[in-house]
Amino acid sequence: MEERKIKIGNRITSYFIQYKKIKNCYLKVEQGQIVVHAPQMMNIDQIEALIIQNQDKLLKRMDQYFCKADYVDQGYVYLFNQKYRILLKDVGIKKCAIHGLDLYVYHRDIEKTVTLFLKEQLMDYLVRKIQAYLLNDFPLNKVDITLRKMKSRWGACFYKKNKICFNSVLVHVDKKLIDYVIVHELCHFIEPNHSKEFYLEIEKRMPDYKQREKRLAEVGI
Ligand SMILES: [Zn+2]
Repeated sequence: MEERKIKIGNRITSYFIQYKKIKNCYLKVEQGQIVVHAPQMMNIDQIEALIIQNQDKLLKRMDQYFCKADYVDQGYVYLFNQKYRILLKDVGIKKCAIHGLDLYVYHRDIEKTVTLFLKEQLMDYLVRKIQAYLLNDFPLNKVDITLRKMKSRWGACFYKKNKICFNSVLVHVDKKLIDYVIVHELCHFIEPNHSKEFYLEIEKRMPDYKQREKRLAEVGI
């Protein structure tokens, strides 16, 4: 990825360009920073004109982005949209425990220990929730779940393999938003593409899905 600088609003900010074999240019905000997916033929002037043209939307997205964790003693982490203070209690065991709004971490490798804990929390939630959805509404009775840190998507459905991969960053956000991703990915077993029918299937099960989708985009990965 190529890093460049641009002045938008009244600030100078970095942005990143990824050239791809695509027809149209896409502007995204990932982790609070502008990322441009550009066709190979596109030049810098065209890209920057597009950024300027969309600056209000981009600045809003950048400002809405919040950092979901600071993995140090006395730092913090968001778990299902609740902020917990990290307190190190090093006894050499890679485990964590919640006490009120504190998260006790029992190993000095804070990031690794907390990440492990978060994965368990998210997996627990996903397994329970997906089971409940499958019982009611979907033409399959079992699905494999994997977690992965992904940069630009919340989930991916491999419907031929009966598998869904969820972004591990979901553990930080509100459960209502996780539920949207679950329903979205499960609906791909009915309709693989993002067609009109696909969104109708989501709407049937989650009438307010558009608000959740919008909120998820604001929260950012
Ligand atoms: Zn999809």
